[in-house]
Amino acid sequence: MSDINNFLATVPTGLWIDGTSTTALEGGSFPVYNPATGAVLAEVADAAPKDALRALDSAHAAQAEWAATPPRARSEILHRAWEILIERTEDFALLMTLEMGKALGESRGELNYGAEFLRWFSEEAVRIQGRYTDAPNGTGRILVTKEPVGPCLAITPWNFPLAMGTRKIGPALAAGCTMIVKPSEDTPLTMLLLAQVLADAGLPAGVLSVLPTSRSAALSGELISDQRLRKVTFTGSTRVGSVLIGQSAAHVQRTSMELGGNAPFIVFDDADLDAAVDGAMAAKMRNGGEACTAANRLFVHNSVRAEFTARLTARIAAMKVGPGYETSTDIGPLINAKQRDAVADLVADAVAAGARVETGGAPIDGPGFFFAPTVLTDVPDSARITREEIFGPVAPIYGFDTEEEAIALANNTEYGLASYFYTQNLDRAFRVARALQAGMVGVNRGVISDPAAPFGGVKASGLGSEGGTEGVEEYLSTKYVAFTQ
Ligand code: NAD
Repeated sequence: MSDINNFLATVPTGLWIDGTSTTALEGGSFPVYNPATGAVLAEVADAAPKDALRALDSAHAAQAEWAATPPRARSEILHRAWEILIERTEDFALLMTLEMGKALGESRGELNYGAEFLRWFSEEAVRIQGRYTDAPNGTGRILVTKEPVGPCLAITPWNFPLAMGTRKIGPALAAGCTMIVKPSEDTPLTMLLLAQVLADAGLPAGVLSVLPTSRSAALSGELISDQRLRKVTFTGSTRVGSVLIGQSAAHVQRTSMELGGNAPFIVFDDADLDAAVDGAMAAKMRNGGEACTAANRLFVHNSVRAEFTARLTARIAAMKVGPGYETSTDIGPLINAKQRDAVADLVADAVAAGARVETGGAPIDGPGFFFAPTVLTDVPDSARITREEIFGPVAPIYGFDTEEEAIALANNTEYGLASYFYTQNLDRAFRVARALQAGMVGVNRGVISDPAAPFGGVKASGLGSEGGTEGVEEYLSTKYVAFTQ
C-alpha cells in the first residue's frame, strides 16, 4: 500500500487550465474513493462555473492558432502522447484500477485501447480532405473544405476513465479543435494525468483543459450557454444526454451523444457453443458488466439453452471477486454504493417477478461495493431488468424458438447501441446483422470496440460516431466556396 500511496502523491489533483495545474477560484475540493475499500484516494480541486469560464477563455484564445497549426504538427503531438501512454502503462493501469475498480488486466487493456485513439487520430489528422469539382451546369467550380468546429466540451463517464476521454480528445485535436473535458466525479484522476501527458507531448497551453467538479450540471450549463462553445460531446446516460441536447439548442451547438444500451446477445441453435460461452463471458463480464456495450439480455435457442446456461453458470460462478489490484482478481467492485444498490434492486425485482438465481444474486458483505457475479433464468418480460440497463455483473438468460422471434425480442427496446449473435450459417449472419436495430453488431464475437471502427448507437443510444474515419468528421464543419472560373 505504501507504493500505491507514493504513486498517488505524484498524480495531479488541481484543475488543468491554460497548461497548468491550478486551484479552483472558489477553493474547495471533493474526495475520490477507492471502490474496493470505500477509502478516500485523493482530494481533487472542485471546479465552479467561474473556472469553466476561465477554461473557455483559454480554449477560445487558443482556437485560431491551434486550427492553423500544421496537421503534421498536431499529428506528431498526438503520436508522442500515445508513446508516453504506452511507456506509462503500469501507472495508468494502476490509477484506473484504484479509482474505478476494474481488475488490473482490464485496466491494461483499456490503456492500450484508450491510447490507440491518439495514435489512430494522429494518422487521421493528416488525411482530412475536401474536394474540388466542376458545377454540373458549367457555371463555376465547387470547392469544399473542412474546418474545425471550434471549442468543444467533452463530458465523460467513469466506466472507462481513459478511453472515453481519448475517443473524444484524439479526433478533436486532430481536427484542430480546442477542448474542455469534464470527467466523471468518480474517476477524475486518470484524466488529470492524461492532461499532463499531453502537455509533456508538446500540446500548447489552452488547447485542452480538464475540470473535475462536484457540480456537473452547473458547470456544463455555464459553458453551453456561452456561444463561444461550438460543440458538446457526451458519453453517459440517455437521461443526461437528452438534457444536454436540449441545452445545446439555444446556440445551435453541434452534439455527439454516446448514450445507454440494452444489448441483446443471441445464441442460435447452429452456434459454436464453446465460442458463444467465451463470447458471453466477454460481452457480459468485461469491465464488471459496467459497459454501455455489455450484453444485457442473453437470448438462447431453446434447444441449446440448458447446455449454454450450465456452461455459462459454471464459468461465472468460478470468477474470483476482489480488489482489482490483487493479482488473483477476475472481477472488481462496482463503482459506488449507488450503483451496487441499483444492480441489487434490479435483481430483487426480477426474482420477485419469478426469475431463478442460478448463481450469485446478491451484494457481497464487507468493505467496498462488490456484487456477486450472477446468472438469472426464467426472467419474465415484466421484470425491469429486461428493459433497463443493468451496468453490473448480472446475466439474464431468455429462451426463443425461431429467428424471427429472436430478432423481435432483440429489437424490443428503446436502445440501439451494441448487439451480438452467434451462428455458423452465413446467410443467417447477413440476414440477422441487417435486421438488428443497433449501431454495432458483433458476429461470433463478444468484444467489438476498435479505434479504427465507428462506435455509436441508434434510437435512444445516441447520435454520431467515435473512432474510425467517421470520428474526426464529428469535429469538422463543411465549407463550400463557389468560384466562377
Ligand atoms: P451519467 O449520465 O450519470 O454521467 C455521465 C457524465 O455526465 C459524468 O461526467 C457526470 O458527472 C455528468 N453529468 C451527470 N449529470 C449531468 C448533468 N445534469 N449535466 C451535465 N453533466 C452531467 O452516466 P454514468 O453513470 O457516469 O455512466 C453510465 C452511463 O453511461 C450508462 O448509461 C452507459 O450506458 C453510458 N455509457 C455510454 C457509452 C457509449 O459510448 N455509448 C460508454 C460508456 C458509458
